[in-house]
Amino acid sequence: MKPHNALYIGGRWHPAEGATAEGTTPEGTTPEGTTSTIDVMNPATGQIITTVPAGSPKDVDAAVCAARAALPGWAGTPPEERAGLLAALRDQLVARTEEIAETVTAELGAPLPFSRTVHAGVPIAVCGAYAELTRSYPFEEKIDNSTVLLEPVGVVGAITPWNYPLHQIVAKVAPALAAGCTVVLKPAEDTPLVAQLFAEGVDAAGIPAGVFNLVTGLGPVAGQALAEHEGVDLVSFTGSTAVGRKIGAIAGAQVKRVALELGGKSANVILPGADLARAVGVGVANVMANSGQTCSAWTRMLVHKDQYAEAVDLAVAAVAKYVPGERIGPLASAKQQDRVRGYIEQGIAEGAKVVAGGPQAPRDTGYYVTPTVFADVTPEMTIAQEEIFGPVLSLLRYEDEEDAVRIANGTVYGLAGAVWAGDEDEAVAFARRLDTGQVDINGGRFNPLAPFGGYKQSGVGRELGAHGLAEYLQTKSLQF
Ligand code: NAD
Repeated sequence: MKPHNALYIGGRWHPAEGATAEGTTPEGTTPEGTTSTIDVMNPATGQIITTVPAGSPKDVDAAVCAARAALPGWAGTPPEERAGLLAALRDQLVARTEEIAETVTAELGAPLPFSRTVHAGVPIAVCGAYAELTRSYPFEEKIDNSTVLLEPVGVVGAITPWNYPLHQIVAKVAPALAAGCTVVLKPAEDTPLVAQLFAEGVDAAGIPAGVFNLVTGLGPVAGQALAEHEGVDLVSFTGSTAVGRKIGAIAGAQVKRVALELGGKSANVILPGADLARAVGVGVANVMANSGQTCSAWTRMLVHKDQYAEAVDLAVAAVAKYVPGERIGPLASAKQQDRVRGYIEQGIAEGAKVVAGGPQAPRDTGYYVTPTVFADVTPEMTIAQEEIFGPVLSLLRYEDEEDAVRIANGTVYGLAGAVWAGDEDEAVAFARRLDTGQVDINGGRFNPLAPFGGYKQSGVGRELGAHGLAEYLQTKSLQF
């Protein structure tokens, strides 16, 4: 059977319980009456590429049962062996690099070079890093007369978004498997095809049946069933704050572990001694990457009042390079396109000044938004407070360092950010004052071993590296 028509449960591809040859059954329908398949759209064209099963709560139950059955064997597999299988998974992803890139380009619309380097390259790096880390991770600690065992939490329900579809999957599944947990994944309905490719890779790597299971489906149906399932010990969610709150409430009611990676409104603070041209250029590139659909994007650029006019000119020049359909792709869906254009209109209505772009769509077909730069943005404006998730940059001016700290910390979010200064120590001193989970100093460089996650309403828990692995462990003390 072609994987596109199937779910991966217990080491086999099989049809969704809710799906029939005719299309729908009562189990496979949502309360709104949606059919039991999901159309996958190419957002660059608006054309349907294929359909995938919309898993029902029964499918989720079957997947959780498979994950639970596989748990004792996988938890008892020596870390060295788990590491070997993660390395094999990495190799399978490497072998599929081109297919992954083409798939993400088809279902998300990202330009192919970006899909190769980022959408395929980053998760491959993360998977490789976890294979290494699993070999050396201290799953046992000695504290005086005690031995502390770090044991897997159990069955993990992973719910992922569409913005970096494979990275979001690997950032959960790799540490979970490294820890000895088993997983049921419910990927975003907009980007299920790369999740299927990932499941093919898991299968080909020889990871035992039931250790990883894939149920494609709708959020309020399959996603909710997974979050609510009593057989799930930990829910790891990345996505909107609204859904994150619901999942947190379910986890609270059931007293199960939860990790939430939510939105951001990160500040890019350019201090007066910085290389302004570089800081603005990298800042614009950071926001435009992936059409602005990056939770950690530095969407607020904070510039000293004396350099503000120059920074605006530099930003306008830099954004001109992002030609829709060439260097920058569409947004993921019509819903996102409407949402982002709504924010641009709201920015104008609240008195911010459009210095590049605007709400008009740059192309007739596809869900494109014109790369947009706003000047004269003040901290209380909606576009300076809410996550837009599109190619929209706001430039804010600050009076002095205290003012910059106050503005940078003045949102409900705290996911990432950047500081630029002439002197690295000065940048680090400023970064210590930011209420945020990650700060890039004078540009920074991605490190797959550095923890990533939010302060404040940006989330709970960390992904990547040893901190990310620790999320999937629970501790048992043996006293001697
Ligand atoms: P979403 O939160 O609705 O979807 C994320 C995942 O949660 C998907 O797999 C979805 O199917 C699932 N889901 C939805 N409702 C659910 C429910 N009731 N129970 C369980 N699972 C459920 O996000 P979205 O609508 O795709 O995007 C909306 C906004 O979220 C974006 O505009 C952006 O601001 C934010 N977002 C943030 C990130 C991030 O990385 N932090 C990623 C994507 C979206």
